[in-house]
Amino acid sequence: MSISSSVLSDLLQSIPYLRPQLYFKASLTALSHAMEDQVLAATLEQPLIIASFQRERYYRQEAHRYKRLALRSNQIYVLSAPETEFANSSEYYEKIAFETEDALSQEWHLVVIADNYATCLVCRESLGSIAKNQLPELSPSLDMDTARRFEGIWTSERGVSIKAADLLLERISVYRPELVDKIKDARQRFGIGESRNYSPAEQVTEFACDIDTDPFVQRLVTYLQASQYKLHKAYRSITAQARKERLVNSISTAIRRSLDPHEVLQVAAQELGQHLGASRCLIYRAQATDAQADIKHEFLIPGVLPVGGQTWQLDENPLFQEAVQNGEGVCVADTLSDPRVTKSKKLFAIAQKFAIRSWLIEPVFFQGRLLGIVELHDCSLPPHEWQPGELDLVKAIATQMGAALIQAESYANLEDLNQQLEALDRTRSNLIAITGHELRTPLSTIQVCLESLATEPDMPLELQQVMLSTALSDSERMRKLVQDFLTLSNLESGRVEWHPESLTLQECVDLALSRLRTRTSEEKPPQVKTQIAENLPLVRADGDWLVEVIAKLMDNACKFTLPEGTITITATQNSNQMVEVTVADTGRGIEPNRLEIVFDRFYQEEGALRRTTGGTGLGLAISRQIVTGWGGEIWAESNGKDQGSQFHFTIPIAQMSQEEKKQGSREQKRQGSREQGAGEKRL
Ligand code: ADP
Repeated sequence: MSISSSVLSDLLQSIPYLRPQLYFKASLTALSHAMEDQVLAATLEQPLIIASFQRERYYRQEAHRYKRLALRSNQIYVLSAPETEFANSSEYYEKIAFETEDALSQEWHLVVIADNYATCLVCRESLGSIAKNQLPELSPSLDMDTARRFEGIWTSERGVSIKAADLLLERISVYRPELVDKIKDARQRFGIGESRNYSPAEQVTEFACDIDTDPFVQRLVTYLQASQYKLHKAYRSITAQARKERLVNSISTAIRRSLDPHEVLQVAAQELGQHLGASRCLIYRAQATDAQADIKHEFLIPGVLPVGGQTWQLDENPLFQEAVQNGEGVCVADTLSDPRVTKSKKLFAIAQKFAIRSWLIEPVFFQGRLLGIVELHDCSLPPHEWQPGELDLVKAIATQMGAALIQAESYANLEDLNQQLEALDRTRSNLIAITGHELRTPLSTIQVCLESLATEPDMPLELQQVMLSTALSDSERMRKLVQDFLTLSNLESGRVEWHPESLTLQECVDLALSRLRTRTSEEKPPQVKTQIAENLPLVRADGDWLVEVIAKLMDNACKFTLPEGTITITATQNSNQMVEVTVADTGRGIEPNRLEIVFDRFYQEEGALRRTTGGTGLGLAISRQIVTGWGGEIWAESNGKDQGSQFHFTIPIAQMSQEEKKQGSREQKRQGSREQGAGEKRL
């Protein structure tokens, strides 16, 4: 039943001299309300009112007003396209639900015909305006309704109004044929549908408005004023928004110009403090769990006491705690009356000392991680009420600052990483050169010896022996070097499988000593003493590697100590739940500036070529890898040349289960009784 013809087009066709005009929605609303108010203001009228709303939702806003209008007239017709419950009915006035596809759904009509005046508004929404209206996301911040435009006629010409009423009544009778008699009454009363064409001149004389239009104009002006005011407010908020965006942009640009975190924070403090007219603006780095923070970046206006250089106690600061907990800014309008400040002795003292009257604390987050805090202080009177615009601005800057800090941090990390890579590259090249050198030296000795043996068959037997043993010892040195090098690179690359077990240290020391004895059989070693503390707990480490470390340190101590010197191995439990082993000698000692370098790969004080003692220069590097592998530490101490050296390393104590503990104490008792027995025997 839907009708595709437009009421506006039909009207323009039947009264050709009419010229449609463009109306914004706000103007149509004002006109409609003024027309309706004029009916409400009259006392005796029983006018005919026909209102056609495009959709139910537009009608719903006016439903209450039409109930009031129904008290003034029994000839009211309201048309609308139903969306939920708008249906044909005759309760207060006639409701006509037209089909959604009806051309009326694009139109807006209001016709009022009284005995002594008539007025009508017949409009159609322009299509561009509808299209835009259906895409509100194009400009979400603007009220899209104000952008809707209509074209049509608004007039007080009776002839035009009667024609409009005629067209609309015709359509009403299609949808609601049962109203035929009521419509007939209206037509008769107001002379609607009498076939007569009016000339413009006739129009003016015959139907000139003969009522007091003053209330209408008054109403119209009021509505227009109201919509103008709305517009003005919208402009103000847009301007404020634009100003804020410009400010955020300019501050962000200033912040982003640097990749140095200190500069970022200083610039941000300066710009924010200046733009918000604060007495003092502080920005400091802080994490959520920090107990205190050092104030390093500050903006101050002249005459205000600086806070820079102070340490803020964060764990006792309820404002900081609140900001971090809620993840948003905290404002204090007056520190003298806000209980968060007055109830905290320390905070109140700070506010007093630094004359902080109004306080704003904004956390700087990046992906949920607290990076720092922005504080704004106002030290003037009267106390400053922080405005929503200011808070938004501080929040926006804090967000920018978070991003800038992370950017600066990542850049610093990148630089660091780059330097590490460069160092690694240098080490790798050095390593290749050193390894090449270390391998070539014994290789060329072996080559010379073997060549001499091959080319000089008459060589005396003694010399031949010397040549052979030199070649043999150098090939042994090469074997050791390659073996140590492989061990070190396996340890460094994590390719070593650890087999941790609970061990008695004495056992490992004994094993290392016996290994040493077999190696140094021809030279007389210095005297070795062991001082392992009684009741030393078991240690947890890989037994083979532990023996290896002790043996290497012992080996070094023997190499660098004269036979008349002494080597002492001690082991005690330290305060960190670790066993500390020390291998001390009375040998040649180490210069203080070399105590750390001795752990470098291939470090040998006299250089490999000039050395008399054997060794590869990899022993301590290997030992450090092993010790750090079980979570311990290794370091050297010495008072300098010829003052002896002490090498210390730590091993974690084994955590014993209840069963192991029991077994341990049974073992100790048994050992105790054995020792007693032995003592008795000696006696
Ligand atoms: P090396 O095979 O040369 O002993 P290490 O890595 O074990 O290699 O030791 C590196 C260097 O540290 C030694 O060449 C020596 O200069 C110094 N060093 C190590 N232990 C001692 C010690 N007990 N006394 C003096 N110097 C030592």
